[in-house]
Amino acid sequence: MIIDVKELCKTYGSYEAVKGISFQVNQGEIFGLLGPNGAGKSTTLEIMETLRTKTSGEVKIGGFDLDKSPNQIKQIIGVQLQTSGFYPSLKLFELIELFAGLYNRKIDPINLLKKVNLEDKAKSEYKSLSGGQKQRFSIATTLINDPKIIFLDEPTTGLDPQARRNLWDLILEIRSLGATVVITTHYMDEAEVLCDRVAIMDAGKIIALDKPEKLIDQLLASGFEKQKETKGANLEDVFINLTGHELRQGS
Ligand code: ADP
Ligand code: MG
Repeated sequence: MIIDVKELCKTYGSYEAVKGISFQVNQGEIFGLLGPNGAGKSTTLEIMETLRTKTSGEVKIGGFDLDKSPNQIKQIIGVQLQTSGFYPSLKLFELIELFAGLYNRKIDPINLLKKVNLEDKAKSEYKSLSGGQKQRFSIATTLINDPKIIFLDEPTTGLDPQARRNLWDLILEIRSLGATVVITTHYMDEAEVLCDRVAIMDAGKIIALDKPEKLIDQLLASGFEKQKETKGANLEDVFINLTGHELRQGS
């Protein structure tokens, strides 16, 4: 396993946001943290990313103990910043050079932008990008230090269906190159497509953890039945069928 979390707790004042959760992430897996707003997903992620302190519990990332070796952990992880964290008037290649400098790495910005399909935007200012392009760019910045583990907090929130599917492909590609991915999302279809395993959090606890198909089978085995007979397609299929998979100017 590449991540091992034991009895992790986080309190903000007297409020318990994370209530003793334990889970492990295997190397090379896409692991989903699901749950309603306020469940404690971002808190858990940011603790693993060394960006937030924990109240108690044990966290090991890539074999390194969070308490003893936070700097070693920082070197092997890629953290997606909120898209508001980028200087809006810098050009993409300038932002990448800036980040590369922070990581003390020499990289070719164009090469990196190619990975996320933004090479033709190298000289565009960050603020001129669409929502989907901003997300792809922020994922590119997580790849600068060639990380073993990448953390993505709601990377597809607010994107149109084309941009969302394009980001799925990108995440699958990153994994196929050997990285482990931990992702949060509110979209269950996305979790089903992307995640090898998911942990469902609610009110600071993990209430289920398994492969998506196992969780679905368990629900069915408990006697659950859908109220309406489902059709072989949904409205999103209609939308994608009509408008195509290609990314748009603004995506
Ligand atoms: P999620 O990402 O699942 O929506 P968060 O981890 O952001 O959940 O938040 C979990 C709970 O902790 C929420 O009730 C939130 O309001 C609270 N919380 C998050 N950050 C802070 C903070 N810095 N101070 C106080 N409470 C916080
Ligand atoms: Mg969150």
